[in-house]
Amino acid sequence: MESFREKILREYPRLSLESKFKFGCHPKIPCFGKCCANVNIFLTPYDVLRMKNALGITSTDFLEKYTIPLMLEEHQLPVVALKMQEGEEKKCPFVSDVGCTIYDDRPWSCRMYPLGLATSKIPGDEGEEFCFVVEEVDSICQGFKEDTEWTVEEWLKNQEVHTFNRKSESYMQLTLHPYLKENKQFDERKTQVFFKTCYDIDGFRKSLFESSFFDRFEVKDEVKEELRVNDEALLEFGVSKWLRFALFREDTMIVKDDELERGAQALGWIVE
Ligand code: SF4
Ligand code: SF4
Repeated sequence: MESFREKILREYPRLSLESKFKFGCHPKIPCFGKCCANVNIFLTPYDVLRMKNALGITSTDFLEKYTIPLMLEEHQLPVVALKMQEGEEKKCPFVSDVGCTIYDDRPWSCRMYPLGLATSKIPGDEGEEFCFVVEEVDSICQGFKEDTEWTVEEWLKNQEVHTFNRKSESYMQLTLHPYLKENKQFDERKTQVFFKTCYDIDGFRKSLFESSFFDRFEVKDEVKEELRVNDEALLEFGVSKWLRFALFREDTMIVKDDELERGAQALGWIVE
């Protein structure tokens, strides 16, 4: 049976940044909030960071209460999806009569809609990445009947998608690492390290500051203090420095000396 991706590649017009479409979404529209139910929303590490801070809870609690952990089949990478509420309607936990209760911090996918992002990349072919309009024949969405015209670029800007893309750049680069492209999969230990660093940012902070991590790795004092208080800096450090070292043994971290490296291995700080 044809997959959704195959259908997109075959049927959906590929939009450029200048392509135009008509769409509007506002509280007076009859379908307002109806789309926030029974929907698959994968969360990026930056989405989790924004949402847990909007709710004023730790990432550890956020993951437990609001997400479902999954394995991405394509790369065998751990990901998380937003958990819909129990009940027939399967509503998003954040939808209310007046719309999204975390609107300013809603995830990337919710910002993109009604646009989707697809890639024609296949192994051995770089292909292209493009936006398309997600308009299904049986859709409940009345937004396409509105007269407001957007270019793709205007929509992405209006929804702050570029900011979210920028904050996810290092993570996206990591998921495109040659190691994973060669279809190598992480073992259980590496999978846990990847998951914790990317998604459970408060758990990651705890494991750095409540262990001998800073005795074993060279980290400047000012960077250390930033990591203590700044989630975004910690996520960037985790993804672009720590994970590249821990998973692929790139020279993005400096171990203080060989003896300590052995100690770090014993502690599980270095993943073989
Ligand atoms: S269904 Fe469409 S128009 Fe209605 S609230 Fe959702 S996105 Fe907006
Ligand atoms: S996070 Fe907000 S915008 Fe996204 S599905 Fe939930 S209620 Fe809707």
